[in-house]
Amino acid sequence: MVEVEIIEEDEKSIKVQLEGLPLSIANAIRRFTINEVPTMAIEEVLIIENTSAMPNEVLAHRISLIPFISDIDRYVAPEECDCGSKLGCEKCVVRYVVRAEALDEPITVYSGDIIPEDPTTTVKPVSPKIPIVKLAPKQRIEIELYVRVGKGRKNAKWQAAISSLYEKDGEPNKRILFIESIGFLPPRRILKEAVNILKKKIQELNEKIVRDIGAS
Ligand SMILES: [Zn+2]
Repeated sequence: MVEVEIIEEDEKSIKVQLEGLPLSIANAIRRFTINEVPTMAIEEVLIIENTSAMPNEVLAHRISLIPFISDIDRYVAPEECDCGSKLGCEKCVVRYVVRAEALDEPITVYSGDIIPEDPTTTVKPVSPKIPIVKLAPKQRIEIELYVRVGKGRKNAKWQAAISSLYEKDGEPNKRILFIESIGFLPPRRILKEAVNILKKKIQELNEKIVRDIGAS
């Protein structure tokens, strides 16, 4: 019998005790929390104007590292979307603009200045206070951002969590899985998604076996 017990949980992390689960399966779940659970991150940065002191490529890199609170119920990965469009549709891309100009005083542009084109989206930077660039008087920037669903396996910027698995002291049948969310998704959701991914992979395997080898 497999037993799962939540030992600790807060908004950033979750610690669960797994009992009677083979190590390979527990480890697969751990890896899925890192590589396979989808999140949303900036995939493309289009700099339309930049008269700040920061070079375009540095600015683009800085901005692309900002983690976004993700909505994986509403949005899907471009390769899984049925629109088949390279530009994407409202289900597979969220577009944002950052427009800022310093007038007489220098200003700092923050993640809170990233404005979604669709005001109903809940996908936004994890904090509005992440500094992006400083502008001296008369300097301005205009940037377009495209946020898409992806996986840690594709690029580390989509990695949902940092997770570890270890044996409980003196109880080899019990293991502790510790999941620390990067901030895209609540830790409990990451665990649920990882288990769902395991389930899907087993279903796929089952269907292949039935199809290729026969049901009996
Ligand atoms: Zn689409």
